[in-house]
Amino acid sequence: MYYPEPLAKLIDAFTRLPGIGPKTAARLAFHVLNMKEDEVIDFAKALVSVKRNLHYCSVCCNITDTDPCRICQDKTRDASVICVVQDSKDLVAMERTKEFNGFYHVLQGAISPMEGVGPDDIRLKELLTRLSDERVQELILATNPNIEGEATAMYISRLVRPFEVKVTRIAHGLPVGGDLEYADEVTLSKALEGRRELF
Ligand SMILES: [Zn+2]
Repeated sequence: MYYPEPLAKLIDAFTRLPGIGPKTAARLAFHVLNMKEDEVIDFAKALVSVKRNLHYCSVCCNITDTDPCRICQDKTRDASVICVVQDSKDLVAMERTKEFNGFYHVLQGAISPMEGVGPDDIRLKELLTRLSDERVQELILATNPNIEGEATAMYISRLVRPFEVKVTRIAHGLPVGGDLEYADEVTLSKALEGRRELF
């Protein structure tokens, strides 16, 4: 089927998004075509802004529009514990449980030899820097309960051995092969509560 070029371009752009097939992409593009012009401009601005105005927190590597991020600036949080997660969506999932009041470290990925992601490709150096802070006593490894997440947790636990810090792994109430961000609050709270010490 032939579409005029601007429309074809928009359909193509939508197709690049995760989980969007050609049919859905066409439906979304036609929806944009029918939107009011100022709505479309706001939408386009939001897309550009997310790229221009967000960056990684220099402390925890979470995405943020302030530096340090709001969590790292929060003086009421417990500086003795850092919860290590794979990405910002996992951090949001942990925050939703309201069970955790320490700080976070966002790896921005997980070690995955299959996908060519090695230890240097995730935010491990930044994590080690934080461990020189004597207040840190526990590292909770809350990477996903799948192969990459487990491999990353094992790697970190070995990496931080020279530091005098307790390393724990969240419990396996979580569905194996699952993703932290999709776990409900109760499951995640329980996994946090039942964390066990590694070594
Ligand atoms: Zn931060």
